[in-house]
Amino acid sequence: MHIVLSPDILNRVLKPARYTGQEWNSIKKDPGTVDIAYALALPDVYEVGMSNLGLKILYDIINQRDDAAAERVYAPWTDMEAEMRAHGIPLYALESFRPINEFDVIGFSLQYEMSFSNILNMLDLSNIPLKTVDRQLEHPFVIGGGPCAFNAEPVADFFDFFVMGEGEETINDVTDCLVQWKREGKPDGRIGLLRRVASIEGIYVPQFYHIDYHDDKTIAAVTPTLPEAKPCVIKRVVEDLDKAPFPTKLVMPYLDIVHDRIMLELFRGCTRGCRFCQAGTIYRPVRERRPETLVNLAKQLVADSGYDEISLVSLSTADYSCLHGLITELQEGLREYKVSVSLPSLRIDSFSVDLAQQVQTVRKSGLTFAPEAGTQRMRDVINKGVTEENLRDAVTAAFKAGWSSIKLYFMIGLPTETDEDVRGIADLAYRVLDWYREATGRRGAKVSVSVSSFVPKCQTPFQWMAQDSISEMRRKQALLKSSIRDRSISLHWHDPEVSFLEAVFARGDRRLADVLIHAWQNGARFDGWSEHFRFDIWMAAFAATGIDPHFYANRSRETDELLPWDHLSAGVDKRYLIAEYDKGVRLELTPDCRRGDCGGCGVCDGLGVQIADWGNR
Ligand code: SF4
Repeated sequence: MHIVLSPDILNRVLKPARYTGQEWNSIKKDPGTVDIAYALALPDVYEVGMSNLGLKILYDIINQRDDAAAERVYAPWTDMEAEMRAHGIPLYALESFRPINEFDVIGFSLQYEMSFSNILNMLDLSNIPLKTVDRQLEHPFVIGGGPCAFNAEPVADFFDFFVMGEGEETINDVTDCLVQWKREGKPDGRIGLLRRVASIEGIYVPQFYHIDYHDDKTIAAVTPTLPEAKPCVIKRVVEDLDKAPFPTKLVMPYLDIVHDRIMLELFRGCTRGCRFCQAGTIYRPVRERRPETLVNLAKQLVADSGYDEISLVSLSTADYSCLHGLITELQEGLREYKVSVSLPSLRIDSFSVDLAQQVQTVRKSGLTFAPEAGTQRMRDVINKGVTEENLRDAVTAAFKAGWSSIKLYFMIGLPTETDEDVRGIADLAYRVLDWYREATGRRGAKVSVSVSSFVPKCQTPFQWMAQDSISEMRRKQALLKSSIRDRSISLHWHDPEVSFLEAVFARGDRRLADVLIHAWQNGARFDGWSEHFRFDIWMAAFAATGIDPHFYANRSRETDELLPWDHLSAGVDKRYLIAEYDKGVRLELTPDCRRGDCGGCGVCDGLGVQIADWGNR
């Protein structure tokens, strides 16, 4: 079946180019010539989906194969959804305009808990049964990967399997398995395939695990029900990132997308060890690409895309060991193409300011630093590893170099936080204004303070901590607001209700599936978008299903409690996480293991992968 969209429909929706495909460099294969067709999905709008680097990599790897094809599909915005439902148009892929339920696999990248309701909506629009138990042989396998797979439990009922960790190698193993099963005539039906993939390292098949609960609603046991299901599924990592495939022919959108530039990934992982940070655990260990590889990739990317901007992306780009040299080489090597190089965010030190000067594009957007907490005590709890002196040196250097506006990111609600720590955020913002006067002899600096609420995430040292209640988050926001009386300082908040729901799903279990269904049926969509977020729908869903959201968000756990994700591992030893939790409470720091001593997280030995840091060898 080939979907034909009438011009009338496209005329009635916002940004029709989200739905028309035909982009430069998109790959169209004849479905009759391949064994396996993937629909790669991101449960958010086109502009967000098209900016996801992981999906670009998978799209490239799958399409390199002769026996498989990958197409793209994103969540239709609510106007388009209404048109599709009114005209009976099923969700379709952008390359072939074939309905998603004609594909073999729909693979979701799970970046953010607040996109879960969009997954249900996309399955429904595809006429695919929401729950795995209701799917028949003719339905696609619904698979997931990305950060949320590290606690897949709240969405476990909707997914046939998950890919834990990096997908470069796993996707080929899974595709080989699917091709073989299909060529053999699909022996034993869906379960036959699931048993085969469950044997692949890093694949988690939720329906092969039985969960028992205690009377107090905590988990009593997670039991594999088939021999193929491993007691603990450990993530996959690419051992030599330098040799890993990286796409150079990017699909070029016809409308502005979130990251409308080349994203050059310098390295994976971060070893700074911030105790609240999930990415810091799930992407370990640090593995850099060699600078010469990156320069070659950049030249190829520019030639194949026509973009004139390269963003150097990683969890903490300024930590790339050869960054100065790389930027110089990129600027010289790409001078004839007039390509600019940009850095997405900066760590607090004067080295970063040198870098910002080296890449002039940063000047346009202002400088952003993330001290995360207002007092040194709090920064030590979270192992941020920066001091007020670092911040002063960095902003002073920036002010002397001509910047006058600084953006600062903070979190409130961090474990052990006191009102003094909250007021410390305001104090720090005031001190930045003082440092401007000292550095330039003038007034006129602008400080933008952006404050989010702490969300305890699975697989981190703070996974056992309670989140502040919504009313406590509001009280702290008011306290901070009353501490800032200078119009040179602007304050921006994250919505505490969103942070609360994020905390529920970040540490939730399988019982939340019915809440998700209920909320989606009552209109929950695009919950990460403030214009669509409806907290009342979610609270009604919790009430209707008899589930207490505070059990998940606002309860601290003992470290011996069995957690819903304990059978899913990022390779980091749980004893290390507990030790880090204890050190946080005792205000003890853990140094960066990349250049210092190994902190004993267990990931390098456990996964057989070593840190790759080219500038320091
Ligand atoms: S095992 Fe040691 S060196 Fe490797 S990431 Fe963990 S702390 Fe760092």
